Amino acid sequence: MIDSRRIYLVSADGDIQQADDYCAIHNQGSCLVYWMSRDQRIQDNWGLLCAQYSALQHKLPLVIVCTIVPNCFEVSLRQYSFMLDGLKEIQQKAHTLHIPFFSVLSDEPSIAISTFAQQYNAAAIFTDFDPLSQSVFNRVKVASMVECPVYEVDSHNIVPARFISQKVEFGAYTLRPKIKRVLNEFLVDIPSPIVHPFPFLHDSPLTDFDAIQSQLKVNIDIQPVLGISGGEYHAQEAFSLFVKNTLSTYHLRNDPNAKAVSGLSPWLHVGNISSQRIAYEVKDIQSEQSLSFLEELIVRKELADNYCLYADSYTDSKGFPNWAKTTHSIHSFDKREYLYTLEQFKNAETHDELWNAAQCELVYTGRMHGYMRMYWAKKILEWTHSPEEAQSIAIYLNDAYQLDGRDPNGYTGIAWSIGGVHDRAWFERPIFGKIRYMNANGCKSKFDTKLYIKHHLHSQQNTDTLF
Ligand SMILES: Cc1cc2nc3c(=O)[nH]c(=O)nc-3n(C[C@H](O)[C@H](O)[C@H](O)COP(=O)(O)OP(=O)(O)OC[C@H]3O[C@@H](n4cnc5c(N)ncnc54)[C@H](O)[C@@H]3O)c2cc1C
Repeated sequence: MIDSRRIYLVSADGDIQQADDYCAIHNQGSCLVYWMSRDQRIQDNWGLLCAQYSALQHKLPLVIVCTIVPNCFEVSLRQYSFMLDGLKEIQQKAHTLHIPFFSVLSDEPSIAISTFAQQYNAAAIFTDFDPLSQSVFNRVKVASMVECPVYEVDSHNIVPARFISQKVEFGAYTLRPKIKRVLNEFLVDIPSPIVHPFPFLHDSPLTDFDAIQSQLKVNIDIQPVLGISGGEYHAQEAFSLFVKNTLSTYHLRNDPNAKAVSGLSPWLHVGNISSQRIAYEVKDIQSEQSLSFLEELIVRKELADNYCLYADSYTDSKGFPNWAKTTHSIHSFDKREYLYTLEQFKNAETHDELWNAAQCELVYTGRMHGYMRMYWAKKILEWTHSPEEAQSIAIYLNDAYQLDGRDPNGYTGIAWSIGGVHDRAWFERPIFGKIRYMNANGCKSKFDTKLYIKHHLHSQQNTDTLF
């Protein structure tokens, strides 16, 4: 049984309301469409399950469509290649379930989906919830261009973001009790999709993802990372290894040398694994470590979606709390001892070896340890002319290099570090004002910074150029 509190009806005028228990479809339609976007997986995917449930009720075929934007310099080949690994596997799995999988190359996803829906006479479109503004815009645009209903299904959050809160939460302390109250209702086992009994009678050729990769006009300066691949199989494997070998050391999560974190964020970002599945399996492990892990996976992650869904802006200072805006303006003329340009940050050319090591970790591995991400973003605030410039540089670098970039967690993490979002006012300091401060000595007291520098900065010294 699918909880209808996950399903929202998207209207052409931008109004998005919880759907009725019985999701109506267009009577004359001849197939159900699941438009896969943020949740790229076959298993544990409520969007796909809702679409299949509706198709079974109405005895209709079901298809999956995924749009790929081929000309997008803001996205790196690193991120595309990780995503395409996953789509290859999804296509195969869908095929075994007799569900055709279409990948449509288009710079305008909303036009591509509405054209597809018209061409195949869709009875309804089910798609993934995503709080980022371009995605919301695309869903509303599709709703304005098709005759059938468009439903958004929250498969990324365990407790659906629109259901749990209708405003920007102040912090984890306000969202946590709301989630706690209903968690047991939502943290249930997830059924598997079944072999679809109603065949799609049109051609549905398999997509050649290698051919697609060669057609992309994206940022090829940032190359794929060796040793990590996208897809449900690798995500599940990483999760199993984490539970078996690492979860018991999660209390060391603030030590970047300890390898005590899950490393799951790249797969969670593209939806190759469901956070609900992870939490469902971890919840029965009774330990302090599993509780801390669930706090990050559920409360912190869902708080980030809440912020991006409701904040005035998640990419500029409009989204910062008033106390942070005030403190920033009081300190706007403070003297900066060091000032760096985007190029210098990009090339890890600051005076601070610890910061440079973190940047090298990002550039070479496509990831950065969570503790270093905070230090990294806060130093960008300290070494730029203004919080606005700092935020835009941090977003640029994060979105370009991180395998998990372009994610609500990233926009919120940067807004937390630079703009005090979800945090409180601290002691007044130059440049930072009342924004929580971090420095290299603080890091030294937590972990062996020399070891971290040796590990990551050395990779820079072994090559002539960074890029
Ligand atoms: C400046 C800055 C930038 C960040 N950029 C990103 C980003 O681009 N993409 C991204 O997914 N996360 C980002 N984060 C949040 C967090 O640092 C990463 O999610 C985490 O480090 C990922 O590593 P992990 O999977 O090993 O985490 P684990 O510690 O194993 O946690 C498990 C999961 O919980 C969630 N989680 C953990 N910490 C946070 C957090 N602070 N906020 C929200 N969710 C969290 C993530 O989904 C993570 O995969 C950023 C944080 C900061 C401060």
